[in-house]
Amino acid sequence: MTRAVLFDLWDTLVEFDVEASRAVQAQMAERLGRDPDEFQRAWDETRSMRETGPLAPSLTALGIDEALVQELVQIRTAGTRSQLVPRDGAIETLRELGERGILRGLISVCSEEVAAIWEESAFRGLFEVTVFSCVVGLAKPDPRIYLRAISSESSRPRRSSWGTAPTTSWPGPSAWACGRCSSTGRERRPTGRRRWSGPGRA
Ligand SMILES: [Mg+2]
Repeated sequence: MTRAVLFDLWDTLVEFDVEASRAVQAQMAERLGRDPDEFQRAWDETRSMRETGPLAPSLTALGIDEALVQELVQIRTAGTRSQLVPRDGAIETLRELGERGILRGLISVCSEEVAAIWEESAFRGLFEVTVFSCVVGLAKPDPRIYLRAISSESSRPRRSSWGTAPTTSWPGPSAWACGRCSSTGRERRPTGRRRWSGPGRA
């Protein structure tokens, strides 16, 4: 019996809007007086840095003056806040799992602002464990990020959301269900072996 499910965030629980994301980068470039295409290239090159650490160093690595860093973090945060909208059925699915007593975990390859605004999102309170790559310094497919979710003492649920049936134990690795799925059914399950081309988008 499945006791727990690990979810991905982008393009699983939330649709990632590529155009909206690029518009945010263009807004940052404009604020810096830089060419948007050049800035986008530089932004892409520093992706793994912001996926496994705080945003500010990844911005200073782009040659951005420290005085502007916080302003850019705010632009980025506002853009992400507008993207952090659950797909149809996502909240209902998470609630249903909770009502069935199945633990819900999230592992997201993301940058700092996602973790910062998570508690103000519609997903607040719907996971027993959340692991953000930028916080733990690990990104998929590094197996340690999965182990962090399922076995780390710090990731054990501090409280239960079950109401009348509180959960007292966190399941071992064999209890977890991992897989690619979509609440809209538009994503297909991958078939066969696939070559890894880098971590997910930030
Ligand atoms: Mg994804």
